[in-house]
Amino acid sequence: MMQTDYFLKTPVEQLRNIGPQKTKALEKVGIKTLGDLLYYFPRRYLDRSTIFKINQLRADIEATVIAQVVNMGVKKGRRNRFLLIVYDGTAYMSCVWFSRLSYWQRIFHKGEWLALSGKIGYFGGWQMVHPEFDRLGQATGGDTFHTSKIIPLYPSNEQLNKLGLDSRGFRRLIGPLLKQKGDSLLETMPGSLLNQYKLMPLAESMNNIHFPESFTRLHHARRRLKFEELFFMQLYIASYKKHRQQSNAGIVFRKVGDLIRILVESLPFELTRAQKTVLHEIHEDMKNHKPMNRLIQGDVGSGKTIVAVISMLIAVENGYQAAMMAPTEILAEQHYFTLKKLLDRIDIHTVLLIGGQNQQTRNSLLAGIESGEAHIVVGTHALIQEGVAFHKLGLVIVDEQHRFGVLQRAVLRQKGLNPDVLVMTATPIPRTLSMTIYGDLDVSVLDEMPAGRKPIKTRWIREEQRVKVYRFLRDQVKSGAQAYIVFPLVEETEKSDLKAATDSFTAMQNTFFEGFRLGLLHGRMKSEEKEAVMGAFKQGDLDILVSTTVIEVGVDVPNATLMVVEHAERFGLTQMHQLRGRVGRGSKQSYCYLVAYGTLTEEAEKRLQTMARSNDGFKIAQVDLEIRGPGEFFGVRQSGFAELKIADLIKDVQVLKVAREEAFTIIGDPQQCHRLKVLFQRSYFARFYRDKIDFDLLTQG
Ligand code: ADP
Ligand code: MG
Repeated sequence: MMQTDYFLKTPVEQLRNIGPQKTKALEKVGIKTLGDLLYYFPRRYLDRSTIFKINQLRADIEATVIAQVVNMGVKKGRRNRFLLIVYDGTAYMSCVWFSRLSYWQRIFHKGEWLALSGKIGYFGGWQMVHPEFDRLGQATGGDTFHTSKIIPLYPSNEQLNKLGLDSRGFRRLIGPLLKQKGDSLLETMPGSLLNQYKLMPLAESMNNIHFPESFTRLHHARRRLKFEELFFMQLYIASYKKHRQQSNAGIVFRKVGDLIRILVESLPFELTRAQKTVLHEIHEDMKNHKPMNRLIQGDVGSGKTIVAVISMLIAVENGYQAAMMAPTEILAEQHYFTLKKLLDRIDIHTVLLIGGQNQQTRNSLLAGIESGEAHIVVGTHALIQEGVAFHKLGLVIVDEQHRFGVLQRAVLRQKGLNPDVLVMTATPIPRTLSMTIYGDLDVSVLDEMPAGRKPIKTRWIREEQRVKVYRFLRDQVKSGAQAYIVFPLVEETEKSDLKAATDSFTAMQNTFFEGFRLGLLHGRMKSEEKEAVMGAFKQGDLDILVSTTVIEVGVDVPNATLMVVEHAERFGLTQMHQLRGRVGRGSKQSYCYLVAYGTLTEEAEKRLQTMARSNDGFKIAQVDLEIRGPGEFFGVRQSGFAELKIADLIKDVQVLKVAREEAFTIIGDPQQCHRLKVLFQRSYFARFYRDKIDFDLLTQG
């Protein structure tokens, strides 16, 4: 009864002309089946109307030229460059590259045809600098490319090229396949959505994405395919969330006792409105028998710690234990001290479990955790990974979300633990990502800073001006302020970075900051040493803390109002924002100086400017996402989602939003779910999610 396009699963090697070599090369780019081939979409399209003959070019226009390579080589000069000479039967044109010279030398071949696009210049002849190009093969005759107005260009690579699978090669594979099957492709989207959003039917979309009849039709084809791709992804997320909500396995934390009231009354401040709202949302979740899975998003300094503490008290008052996990040991220690100070006076027993504690201590800690004598356990992710045995674990708090993804959360569940989970992040998650990777979490936002905070004054400077900044630091420290000086530490260059930091430390101590109390902190130190240095800084026994990025998250010393970031050009945006969050924690004016060295790349400059302009973590994350792309950002790639074929998590927010709403509506309705099952089996975009969804459960209502 269920109709499916089975041919989509046919291996590509069954096509004529596809031998073992091509099969291998195709597999490397993810093409194993005819379905993969059909869903291998063009990278860009050439508009025939912008194609010029070389003898008709004009200066400063954007044009595409189709021509054959006749000569090439590296030309020495004030700046060495790679020159490529092409000819199209009417005239010659040169193309120039100023970098990666040997690479270009390697990849082009005399006699091959190229489509070159770029701005036209004139230097004794027509020229393009760093053109975009696509390789059209050794001959241009005999395919669609001569007749259609819009020419699809496919992604390719050197290996595929060698085997004749350049853009033209792909057109020749996909063209006939579409001719044979294209018009009869079975629809994969619900009719109601096709109507409501005026989506182009699948068959038509497939024909037009590969061989567009017009740019308008192409646009509609792309829109429809993006919609479908995001729709099935969201269906998966929605179903995941529904499974979770249908589960009654969550703990019901019924009781609210006196402890919280006593704690809150003892605080030196009022909770902000945002903190109260979020706490209310958390409490509602915890009372409920559905397991909580909530993300608390709050910019650095918004006061997440106290929210965590109060939530943990709810668990403890109901006879459960709570665990708080931090991404680094230093941060775990920080939390431990903060928590202990708050909780000792109400007789809540808090313990710290990290590496480097001696065996005897560790054993007695583990015993206390297992017996339930320890109410609250602070540690790193090792707490979960190493399977520490709890007496009755009711709540897990994960601090700094971006290092604790979907996968780690799954580990918790696999261990048979079903505690409520509260994830806290300072890194604002752009909307597109909170709708995807974190799409199964409920989100609360701490959108208010404690009163009396002054925005941090941030400037970026070049190394020449550094002395001025250090002079300013000296004056401020003399009048009682404390300062951080941060050095980068990157894994690949770890040794030399560490040396640079320690050398500078010694130099500063002996020259510029002679007579001041300096401390050094880096990741290679033993944890007692780190603890001692951090403790001294916290108590005001040190004026200046020189550190590598170990202080990145969570450190809380309100009297520290100055920060200098050395080699700021090497830091990512989110990381810099996190770092900066170490100052501006009290009511005094704070300053942050970003010192850049050497020639800056365009991106580095953009990062520094963004930091100087904005204190708003959300805006900063947005720019970061634009610069780095979603794959890098928070490691989307490791998050267990299929790689997107056509939709773009940054650009397609609007489509994503609608697709998400529709998916969630459908998942909420057992009857619609039932009807969707067929489409789920059929859609190519749903292939990764199929075996992860239990439709029977969904259709039970
Ligand atoms: P983050 O959200 O970055 O983890 P913290 O929880 O470390 O922020 O809080 C930052 C600082 O603000 C701490 O010193 C904390 O004691 C203080 N703080 C938290 N909530 C409030 C509040 N409602 N009013 C004033 N200060 C607060
Ligand atoms: Mg924090």
